[in-house]
Amino acid sequence: MNEPVLVIGGGMGGMLASWLLDNQHIPHIGFESSGQLGSDFLSEHPRMCSQASIHFVQQIFPNSDWMLSDQPPVEFRKGNWVPANAASSPFEEYCLKTPFFKMAVNHRGLMDHLFEKARPHFKTHLQIREIDEKQHVLRCHDGSSYVYSRIIWCGELDGLAKCYAGNKKELNKVLRKVDCSFSGISVDLSSEKPPPLTDNTLIFPFRYKDKILRSLGVIWCDKNTDQDCLTRWLILFERDFGEDKEEVAKCLKTFRREFAKEFGGGESELGVSRVRYLSAISCTSPLRVESLEVLPSVTYLGSQVFPSGRNENFQNLDRLFDNMALVEEEMMRLC
Ligand SMILES: Cc1cc2nc3c(=O)[nH]c(=O)nc-3n(C[C@H](O)[C@H](O)[C@H](O)COP(=O)(O)OP(=O)(O)OC[C@H]3O[C@@H](n4cnc5c(N)ncnc54)[C@H](O)[C@@H]3O)c2cc1C
Repeated sequence: MNEPVLVIGGGMGGMLASWLLDNQHIPHIGFESSGQLGSDFLSEHPRMCSQASIHFVQQIFPNSDWMLSDQPPVEFRKGNWVPANAASSPFEEYCLKTPFFKMAVNHRGLMDHLFEKARPHFKTHLQIREIDEKQHVLRCHDGSSYVYSRIIWCGELDGLAKCYAGNKKELNKVLRKVDCSFSGISVDLSSEKPPPLTDNTLIFPFRYKDKILRSLGVIWCDKNTDQDCLTRWLILFERDFGEDKEEVAKCLKTFRREFAKEFGGGESELGVSRVRYLSAISCTSPLRVESLEVLPSVTYLGSQVFPSGRNENFQNLDRLFDNMALVEEEMMRLC
C-alpha cells in the first residue's frame, strides 16, 4: 500500500481502527468533523454482553478490569423505585439487558490509552464531503483533498452513501432497510436525594405535552473530577423532534423541573454539569451484509451491519468489536 489508509470518524470505531493500523505500521490519516475524538463513547457507560468483547478490550488495554453486573433495572413509579416495566422500544430493550459486563473503574483509562495512540494521526474539524472512487481521492469541506489506498469508514452508513461518488447500488439496498433512527440528549444531574445505587438502568418517566417520555439513567462516578456521583440521563426523541432545538430545550427544562420535584430542593439546586446533543442513535438490530467492504476499497467499521456467518445477536459495542476482528484480519492480508 503506497498511499495511506484514511479513517473517517473519530468515535470509538475510528480510534480502534487507528490503533489497529498503528500496530501494523500502516500509514494512515484520521478525520473527525467535530473538535474532539471519542464521540458517543464519551457519554456512555460502556457495557457489553459478549465475553469476546472483553478479551478484545483487554488485548488493547490490558489494565482494564471488567465485572459482570446482574442487578435489575428499576423505574420510578408513584414515588418509588420499583422493578422496570418491559422495554418500550428496541433501544430501551438494549439498555435494560441483564446481565452485562461493565468496567470495574471508569473507562477514562481506556479512553486515554486510545486517545494517545489516535491523536497524532487525526485531523479534527474536518468534514468529509466527497469520495471520488475513480481517482481514489477524498475531499473535505475546506477544499483539501487526500489520495487513498483504502478507506475505513467509521461514521454512519448513510453519511458514506451521501459522500460516495461512484456505484453505490448495493450499499443503497442495505440502507433502505435501516429504518429506525432517533436523536437524543444526554444530561448529567446531581440531586439532593440520590437515586438507588444500581449498576443497571434507571427509568424516570415524565410528561412532555401529550407524550410520556422515559429518560434512561445510569449512575456515573468520575474519579477525575471533584464531583461525586452523578446520574447521566439519556432522553430519546424521534429524529424530526430532535432536530427542533427549541423543542428539545423545552423538553429538557420540563425534565429538570419534574426531576427536581422528586429528588432535589428546586430546579436551580440540581447540579447540571453537562448537556450533550446526540444527533443520531440507531436502535435497530444490525443488518446482514456480504462483506464489510461495503464499497470498492471502502471498509466499514461500526455497528450498523454484520457479515454473514457472524453472531447475529450482537449489538453496539459487541458488534463493533466483532467487526473489528474481521477488519484486523483484512488489514493483515493487505500488509
Ligand atoms: C448515550 C449513549 C450511550 C451508549 N451506551 C452504550 C453502551 O453502554 N454499550 C454499547 O455497546 N453501546 C452504547 N452506545 C452505542 C454507541 O453508539 C457505540 O457503542 C459506540 O460508541 C459507537 O462508536 P462509533 O465510533 O461506531 O460511532 P460514533 O461514536 O457515532 O462516532 C462516529 C464519528 O464519526 C464522525 N463522522 C461522521 N461522519 C463524518 C464525516 N463525514 N467526516 C468526518 N467525521 C465524521 C462523527 O462526528 C463521530 O465522531 C451508546 C450510545 C449513546 C449515544
